[in-house]
Amino acid sequence: MFTGEAYTKDAALRLLASEGEDLLRLYQRADEVRKEKMGDEVFIRGIIEFSNICARNCHYCGIRAGNKGVSRYAMDADEILETAYSMVGTEKTTVVLQSGETPAFTDEELGEIIRRIKGETGLSVTLSVGSRPLETYRYWHDCGMDRYLLRFETSDPELFRRLRPGSTLEERLRCLYDLKAAGVQTGSGFMIGLPGETLQVLADNILLCRTLDLDMIGIGPFIPHPDTPLGDEKNAYDDNREMFFKAIAVLRIFNPDAHIPATTAFDAVFPDEGRNRVLKVGGNIFMPNNTPLKYRKDYLLYPGKPCITESAEVCTQCAVMRIQAMGRKIGTGPGHSIKKRT
Ligand code: SF4
Repeated sequence: MFTGEAYTKDAALRLLASEGEDLLRLYQRADEVRKEKMGDEVFIRGIIEFSNICARNCHYCGIRAGNKGVSRYAMDADEILETAYSMVGTEKTTVVLQSGETPAFTDEELGEIIRRIKGETGLSVTLSVGSRPLETYRYWHDCGMDRYLLRFETSDPELFRRLRPGSTLEERLRCLYDLKAAGVQTGSGFMIGLPGETLQVLADNILLCRTLDLDMIGIGPFIPHPDTPLGDEKNAYDDNREMFFKAIAVLRIFNPDAHIPATTAFDAVFPDEGRNRVLKVGGNIFMPNNTPLKYRKDYLLYPGKPCITESAEVCTQCAVMRIQAMGRKIGTGPGHSIKKRT
């Protein structure tokens, strides 16, 4: 935070309104906080989108159940393990297993996959498979799961209810508290510019991340997918896309010791430079796509998603080059949360 200021909503709103010299100062301060707390290392985590099957119908999501144009798939356990094995010895020290919210696997099957990846590859394991009961989180943690990503998407309960039919913000937050209670490093985050979002909501989103005391925070711009109910909507900051980077900078200042990834959606809006700009204003994680090429075109949460035709090796090398060209170092070791939990 700028010297002497409190982490209040007013302060967040004022920082989000920065322009000109103030904006440069905001970006500079965010980068300083990142350097002071997280250092110059950028950790690379490989995402495996192992199934695009989902029972939910989130209004913004390209793989929602109601989108009949999607060709559905679920990788089997052997293919997931083989893909995880391909990361061993590379710059990627974490496997992020991501899928839609319908269990394509039983808890036990997924537990066995976690156990084998941890035991056989030594890679860290992050899961992102939606809202689950506390017992399931505990069980997967016992199997070796290190981290879990579960974005709350918006802190506005009414907007949440409208955009994620059949679920509530309250339930989502309960899952996040359950994850923490289970001893899992917990990641969450939100979309920037959902239709109906105001600056007040954006500030509340940032404050909620701080209240939740998260280990990781992933945020990215809302990009309308034509085959969804929000297909004809615009991002709330379409006329002021700098807001996407301001949000990252304020997020970093309000959450100094959380990992903040440069999410792929930034490159969809700002081709070839979006993720670099995130790393310059607070980001410290890069998550290249490691899904086998044949599935990538079927995991389009939003249109224009980059890295659909590049191999995992090409995506990783691209990430390494981008990070090093910025004078940053590739993270070594597991890249766990730096927060001390008692
Ligand atoms: S956002 Fe997640 S839960 Fe919602 S439809 Fe998409 S994959 Fe399913």
